[in-house]
Amino acid sequence: TESFHSVAEESNMIVAVRVRPLNAAECQRASVTNVVQVHGNNELSVHAGSSADASAGFSHFFSYDQVYYSCDPDRKNYADQLAVFAGTAQPLIDTAFEGYNACLFAYGQTGSGKSYSMMGIEGLDDAALDGNAPHVEAGIIPRFCHELFRRIDAVKQQLQVEVEVSYFEIYNEKIHDLLSVQQAMAALPDTPVQRQALKVREHPIFGPYVVDLSAHSVDSYSALRNWLAVGNSQRATASTAMNDKSSRSHSIFNIVLNLTDLSSDGSDDMSSDTDSGTVVSLRQTRRSKISLVDLAGSERISVSGSNGERIREGVSINKSLLTLGKVIAALADSRKVGGNATPSTFVPYRESVLTWLLRSCLLLSKVASVDFVVQMLEIMS
Ligand code: ADP
Repeated sequence: TESFHSVAEESNMIVAVRVRPLNAAECQRASVTNVVQVHGNNELSVHAGSSADASAGFSHFFSYDQVYYSCDPDRKNYADQLAVFAGTAQPLIDTAFEGYNACLFAYGQTGSGKSYSMMGIEGLDDAALDGNAPHVEAGIIPRFCHELFRRIDAVKQQLQVEVEVSYFEIYNEKIHDLLSVQQAMAALPDTPVQRQALKVREHPIFGPYVVDLSAHSVDSYSALRNWLAVGNSQRATASTAMNDKSSRSHSIFNIVLNLTDLSSDGSDDMSSDTDSGTVVSLRQTRRSKISLVDLAGSERISVSGSNGERIREGVSINKSLLTLGKVIAALADSRKVGGNATPSTFVPYRESVLTWLLRSCLLLSKVASVDFVVQMLEIMS
């Protein structure tokens, strides 16, 4: 029995795990039993060994910042979509309003519940909405967007907030825009979409960005929801055309907030134009970016029985996930030597498109949940 203890208060990264119920197919197989036990809000154990005899074998214990048990709706601590959102993504709205960047990843094998947690079962169809509130099965992304506009509404006297969204996927280390209007218009049902791959470049001030990625201004939750629906349908179309590609691609939904402080009269930020003798008032502005990421399945694609194309896909996907593991490990390592990344800690952001683009979110991460890193590296090795 091993036990780890995370130290959330020293970290600005939190790691939560969610346990989903057995699905219908799993329930029908006698050999499949639930081997995960949850202990309180932070710890779970996985029973290894004979599944028929619980007393045989042994248990591994793991601790996280949060453990969500979503298996039994009748159970007292059942974690529904709202609970998962409230404990993971909702605090990032404060982070964004403070002007910081943040990132949330869903990591796990195909079928483990990443899309359910991120997007929810009914996506963003109007039918899925209860009035203007997200449906009970709506996931983190629609809930985040809904709550964001609720908060913007509440502060609009003091703060002008401009919201811009972009949505893209990384497949085989290539980037595809999911909100390209041209492509959405051109996509006919059952027609494989010929999509252009976009490139990453490094801006001297703003850092890495995707060249020609479309960004869309939105001023309401319903406008944002429409873009999300466009992106999801683009993703689904490409996925059907390419043999369940969605489990092998990473999807990244970005929300950029430009915040202008209306209550400030600019007195802190006066700049005088000496030539004309006028005083120019500069209002305080902040910019923050939140990335909500549904990662590719973490399973390794078996080499035997795969055709050449699949192997190539697998290698690239592992490259992005593997690099994410390495980046987090390097950040955790730098924490041990004093908190911030030191010049001696090489963080390989540029080794994959995913980590390169998310560098600004990961840069300031202090990783306390070392067991997550250990597990990630174990899975990948
Ligand atoms: P992934 O995106 O990781 O491949 P999905 O989100 O598609 O996995 O989940 C696989 C299946 O399990 C889906 O049918 C989904 O509705 C269901 N599922 C996942 N998590 C839960 C949960 N917490 N409660 C109920 N059903 C779930």
